[in-house]
Amino acid sequence: IKRTGRNGVRRFDAALDAELEHTVLLTREFQLALTREQLTLVYQPIYHLQTGEMSKIEVLLRWTHPEYGEISPGVFIPIAETSGQIVSVGRWVLERACIQARHWRENHGWAGTVTVNVSPVQFAQPGFVDEVKQALMLSGLPAHKLELELTEGAVMQNPALVQTALRSLQRLGVEITIDDFGTGYSSLAYLRDLPIGCIKIDRSFIEDIAAPRRAPQYAVALITAIVGVAQTLDLQVVAEGIETQEQMEAVRGFGCDFGQGYYFARPLDTTRLTELLDHGRPK
Ligand code: C2E
Ligand code: CA
Ligand code: CA
Ligand code: CA
Repeated sequence: IKRTGRNGVRRFDAALDAELEHTVLLTREFQLALTREQLTLVYQPIYHLQTGEMSKIEVLLRWTHPEYGEISPGVFIPIAETSGQIVSVGRWVLERACIQARHWRENHGWAGTVTVNVSPVQFAQPGFVDEVKQALMLSGLPAHKLELELTEGAVMQNPALVQTALRSLQRLGVEITIDDFGTGYSSLAYLRDLPIGCIKIDRSFIEDIAAPRRAPQYAVALITAIVGVAQTLDLQVVAEGIETQEQMEAVRGFGCDFGQGYYFARPLDTTRLTELLDHGRPK
């Protein structure tokens, strides 16, 4: 993309070119990432705020490039979605996650649920439900110990197909969580109409709770309202991005069921998460 014109315009085009080149490069590099074992999974505990139990573990994808180092999922997930690579990588994540969860269940007495992020692109393809069945069968993980995190955007696309897929997953026993809740623009009716078991309040709202007494009124009102809706519809509520004790106590006070964030634990590799299961004392 080359246009003539004033300096500003050319500079803009140059930046665009560089970005395009960057995207093409990363797309190509990502293709190799899986086969060259550059992709790994990390695991972040989610605690029940009343009992302190590690009720769930969220699986997060990591890409360590031999030259460029750690590349953030915020960068490579959108690229993998555009190229379609997210479909095969997502399948891999799902299988690995179920196998790991079953291992923790069988050998470390963990009774919790593993939660896996699912891209809208991955969810929209017709084979998705079969892939979930496949991962469960392959791993031997009971279906009710698997939860899928979808964004509002993912469940709002093509309502008929989404309904069918969600009902099949429900029949299997797999739970659906709405991730980043409150950041979409959709109506709340889908919470009532679709088989959703849990909502995860977006980190941005938790961030605004500086301290319980100083919390901006809107953040308090919003979280309280979300919890109210969730209780009415019998949905679980997770608060994500909890970094301080104040935030933890606040969301617990608002009635959130579960908490996740650096305050409790960062995303951990398999070894450290296993240690936490064996010896760790949750806060
Ligand atoms: P997400 O699903 O909302 O995941 C939560 C993100 O918040 C993770 O970032 C996690 O490391 C980070 N986080 C957790 N606790 C805290 C905290 O206390 N403070 C702060 N500031 N951050 C916290 P991460 O791992 O970089 O992932 C970013 C996003 O990439 C995820 O957001 C998710 O949308 C996507 N992603 C990650 N793994 C996968 C995957 O396997 N499949 C798909 N489709 N998307 C993934
Ligand atoms: Ca998530
Ligand atoms: Ca989230
Ligand atoms: Ca997010």
